[in-house]
Amino acid sequence: MTKIRHVLGISGGKDSAALAIYLKNKHPELDLEYYCCDTGKELDETYQLIENLEVYLGKPIKRLQAAEDSPEENPFDHFVKMYTGYLPSATTRWCTQRLKLEPFERYVGNDLVVSYVGIRGDEDREGYISKKSNIQSIFPFRQNIWSEDVVQKLLNNNHIAQLLNYYNNTLAPEALNNLLPYLQTPISPNFTLQQKAAALLDYNTKAFNQVVFSYLQTTNYPLSKVASFPLLDNDDILIRDDIFNLLRESGVGVPAYYEKIAYQIDGQTAYYARSRSGCFFCFFQQRIEWVWLYEQHPDLFKKAMEYEKEGYSWMHNETLEQLIQPERIEAIKRENWAKTQRNNKKSLFLTDILDDAEEEGCAACFI
Ligand code: SF4
Repeated sequence: MTKIRHVLGISGGKDSAALAIYLKNKHPELDLEYYCCDTGKELDETYQLIENLEVYLGKPIKRLQAAEDSPEENPFDHFVKMYTGYLPSATTRWCTQRLKLEPFERYVGNDLVVSYVGIRGDEDREGYISKKSNIQSIFPFRQNIWSEDVVQKLLNNNHIAQLLNYYNNTLAPEALNNLLPYLQTPISPNFTLQQKAAALLDYNTKAFNQVVFSYLQTTNYPLSKVASFPLLDNDDILIRDDIFNLLRESGVGVPAYYEKIAYQIDGQTAYYARSRSGCFFCFFQQRIEWVWLYEQHPDLFKKAMEYEKEGYSWMHNETLEQLIQPERIEAIKRENWAKTQRNNKKSLFLTDILDDAEEEGCAACFI
């Protein structure tokens, strides 16, 4: 059998760190390689988390170099200079491409690779799917561990006979009979790909995994080169609380920036924190997170401000200088408090509020 590599990208955030802990304990037979793509602009707590994790895993986490030709230069600063000060944004996201995806793809080269991604069972988003055919993504925290492209091909309406055949070889006749209405119904606006996949997964997750694996043997995906795959038997679903428990119980710890900090507004107590890892100036952060940065890490905020020149700014319609005017800070804090009341009538825990924020944006920074 051809050798395939199993890699796990450590973003510096809670989910990928928890995934490394989870896989080490649950599937020690996987020979995992760990790597991180350091932008050079993370918060100190992120670097601390990576160091703690390295001790826990007993293996090095390889730091991938983005600016290969200038190893002495800060990676982000190297590229911002190359782009003559043009700051990345949600629509022109050169940072992810240059600092994360390119180093990762250089690192794996043409090897056959299974890349494990820490998207949780309570998130509704797809992870980074490499366009390179030698890289296959797996999502162990979700009920559906497979990437969308694989499921799409398997459940394609032209392959219904093949799908029945796989299930025929996997399930006992009685169980198969129960599933036939779903298997035989083509995908349509009334029965979408997601609904069909969910029905099959809910009925029997392990059987679905076995069927996908049988299908993969007929393809060029990396997992077609192995005779078995331990995650086929895995039907765990891990959500946000599980992630925090894994970090705490392992001793690796939760980065301090996730901890809520109280502030007063209009005689009320409200809370703020940072919702994600990533560069301290990440343009995906919410305005309340900018205020948090300004008040909790004024040195970093000042550095973020220094990038705003020649008409470039981190946010679309507001500079950081405008954001830190006292009346503006008050307005942002007030709006954050009001949002808390609207979104979260039952609980005032910030972790619930921040769920909103972390689902957006920086997904490809979690490869
Ligand atoms: S964390 Fe934000 S700013 Fe940093 S590389 Fe990712 S998307 Fe870009």
